[in-house]
Amino acid sequence: MNYKNITVAGSGVLGSQIAYQTAFKGFNVTVYDINDPALERAKERISDLKSHYRQDLNATGQEVDEAYNRISFSSDLSKAVAEADLVIEAVPEVVQIKADFYTDLGKVAPEKTVFATNSSTLLPSQFAEATGRPQKFLALHFANEIWKNNTAEIMKHPGTDMAVFQDVVAFAKAIGMVALPLHKEQPGYILNSLLVPLLEAAQQLLIREVADVETIDKTWMVATGAPQGPFAILDVVGINTAYNIGLAKAEASGDPEFKKIAEMLKSEYVDKGKLGAAAGEGFYKY
Ligand code: NAD
Repeated sequence: MNYKNITVAGSGVLGSQIAYQTAFKGFNVTVYDINDPALERAKERISDLKSHYRQDLNATGQEVDEAYNRISFSSDLSKAVAEADLVIEAVPEVVQIKADFYTDLGKVAPEKTVFATNSSTLLPSQFAEATGRPQKFLALHFANEIWKNNTAEIMKHPGTDMAVFQDVVAFAKAIGMVALPLHKEQPGYILNSLLVPLLEAAQQLLIREVADVETIDKTWMVATGAPQGPFAILDVVGINTAYNIGLAKAEASGDPEFKKIAEMLKSEYVDKGKLGAAAGEGFYKY
């Protein structure tokens, strides 16, 4: 892997974090977004990250400033990617926005440039043709608060070149991530493929009145040595998100039990402001 110049496209919640982490580890970073107001917001968001790096990673003032100074900003796509070895895409999770972005990007990026999507729920094969370079395209998926939740799931689609895949695995390690290679496409990657069924099963046990929240969590923690049970995890995820996921699942599956779960989350938690750990109360009090 001899990447030096990285462009991050989309500078929202995740894009700004990816850009700053990459610059913090010494790469030259260009941030691309649709217009100047979006870039101004990105500058603020990225500046705000400095205090987290100082607090959580004990970084010095000089280190956090130098990292910021390695980032440049542009709303001109062809200029933003002119030198890029790798473009990491973190534009909104909307199929049409991503497809249009890859069509435009494929036209202006140098031939050598590798493209990686940070999409949480869409598969790279959906966009491989639009990129015009399916062999140099794959998924590189980060978690929120990347500087401490430092997983990077790297996922091939059937057309990804193996050498490109290995380069992106090496890049992920170079920016301080624990690299987690996925050799096949999998909705939800590894983490959510494990976590979502666990969280659903816990909610099913609760709605069936098999056991209460504390007992379900205690079972999981004592038996596996895990630090948290599924309801404590749901409190961190946020009950609003859990409710939205439950509702979508109820609609997609037509399963009345998921509908009951969604209704319970709404009436007992969301409507009462018990939105999880960040709100001070969810399944537990904080
Ligand atoms: P966000 O809404 O915070 O940011 C999206 C950014 O993209 C905004 O700055 C917006 O101006 C910009 N944008 C819109 N259209 C664009 C275009 N055509 N070209 C370039 N930029 C454009 O979104 P987010 O939460 O950062 O999510 C971005 C991606 O990261 C999504 O694919 C999401 O699934 C993924 N992701 C998000 C999280 C998370 O916790 N938020 C975690 C992992 C992965």
